[in-house]
Amino acid sequence: MDPQETWKRLIAAFIAYDWDAVLESADALQSWLNNEGFPPETIPEQRMGCDWNRTVVYAVCSYATDLARRVLNDEYGIPIGIPFSLSCRECDAFGPESFESAICEGWRAIEFAPNAVAENFFGDCPEHANPELLPALTTPNKENDIMANDKKRPVEEVRIGRIRAAIWENQTEQGVRHNVTISRLYKDGNDWKDTASFGREDLLLVAKVVDQAHTWIYEHANGSANGENGHSEEF
Ligand SMILES: [Zn+2]
Repeated sequence: MDPQETWKRLIAAFIAYDWDAVLESADALQSWLNNEGFPPETIPEQRMGCDWNRTVVYAVCSYATDLARRVLNDEYGIPIGIPFSLSCRECDAFGPESFESAICEGWRAIEFAPNAVAENFFGDCPEHANPELLPALTTPNKENDIMANDKKRPVEEVRIGRIRAAIWENQTEQGVRHNVTISRLYKDGNDWKDTASFGREDLLLVAKVVDQAHTWIYEHANGSANGENGHSEEF
């Protein structure tokens, strides 16, 4: 256990809104301190002393853990108890005062943004939203429209930040098989697009969404006796 590395990981996870990693790093740091481990330098370029560092680490861990649990406990990652102030990533538009009304009005890709300056949530306003981007956040009516258009949709999506794994179901002679596509969302002018090209900073997130997709497929491959063991999934 390297407390300095773990402290860095905790902060990086918080900035990336990677709440599972926040919980994991905070938990590791707290156990380390509880077992008389020396605290990390909380301000690496400035020695603050053991007491300061220990106090800051405990406080940050407790704050971050509480926040992460509230985000993870909500189906859409909208933590309870945080005032819902929403603005568009692209323009100056402000959203309505609740998540539900925002979805009804056509806002998409709403994300808790604890390190934003003035608002608590970012989203894509109706004008800038791509309604197909995040089907999980569409209203039931919209979802039916998409179904009616006979558009094939993934059975599951795993998303961390801008990296997304979409899990697709295929009927084959051996029963249901799953394929996974990995993409990175990015802005091109006013449009959201996706690509299968990843930068250095994306790679750990790619590994995480792939890991979670793999777990999901195993948990949902209950039908056939062969399971999907040994079956190589297409990427
Ligand atoms: Zn907008």
